[in-house]
Amino acid sequence: MIRRSSKRLLLLGGTGEAVALAEAAHKYFGKDVEVITSLAGRTRHPLSPPGTVRMGGFGGVDGLTAFLRDENIDAIIDATHPFAAQISRHARLAAESEGLPRLILARPPWQQHAGDKWTVVEDVSAAAAAVSTLAGKNLGLRLKIFLTIGSQEVEPFLAIAGVDYILRQIDPVKETPPANVQIIIGRGPFTREKEIGTLTQHKVQILVSKASGGTATYPKIEAARTLEIPVIMISRPPVETGDTVTEVSAALEWIEQKLTDERHE
Ligand code: NAP
Repeated sequence: MIRRSSKRLLLLGGTGEAVALAEAAHKYFGKDVEVITSLAGRTRHPLSPPGTVRMGGFGGVDGLTAFLRDENIDAIIDATHPFAAQISRHARLAAESEGLPRLILARPPWQQHAGDKWTVVEDVSAAAAAVSTLAGKNLGLRLKIFLTIGSQEVEPFLAIAGVDYILRQIDPVKETPPANVQIIIGRGPFTREKEIGTLTQHKVQILVSKASGGTATYPKIEAARTLEIPVIMISRPPVETGDTVTEVSAALEWIEQKLTDERHE
């Protein structure tokens, strides 16, 4: 048997799935595969997976391509959030230009069930327009909305008259939020019961959510169904082409096939 030195896997992360994959790969492949998890650096205290963790943007496609070359990366797994479309596109272009194998680990999308009251919209701007229309029809009463789209994209919502928002963040905020915003702090995953508690406690009338898919943030959707709360559901951006799996176990098989088959020669 020929045993080669360890292979280097770049794991684009920022999701629970990426952490789960780094942990599983560490357990399963040990020193044969070195996992380098890359985080954008948006969260102050991110979960810390085994292996190496690097933080911050690469500097576009060219920066990522240079990183792949300089760091002798053998393969890429894109386990970023389904709405992180830019880094996924960069990963495809950089992997293509370096001729490296690339896998997308994508969450399975959510399906609508009986009792769900979803209004599906195309993007964040369309969601803000839908909120504005609802606020306009609310006969001067204030609307209470749970806005669960991440802190980066809330701006277009905050100026809409007649709406109060609940925003949930992982890190406490330093700045005082606008008068119509209440910040609650929490790191998921949350159970359905906990989400029912949050929606009830804050008298939420509408939930705004990205159609993120997967299990981690699904309990809030189940809670809205239980409480018959309408959901403005923002559709996913188009997915990148390429090998795609939805489970960590399938990603492990891909790693085994692409990076460690020579162990068995
Ligand atoms: P994005 O719009 O696709 O990417 C914007 C830029 O951020 C990229 O061009 C890249 O900068 C940098 N970047 C993004 N992800 C990176 C990573 N994993 N490692 C290194 N650089 C990264 O991404 P986003 O929507 O802002 O999301 C940022 C991160 O948060 C992602 O890792 C994603 O998995 C996570 N996240 C996103 C959401 C969401 O709703 N978008 C939700 C939960 C978690 P350069 O061009 O300089 O390389």
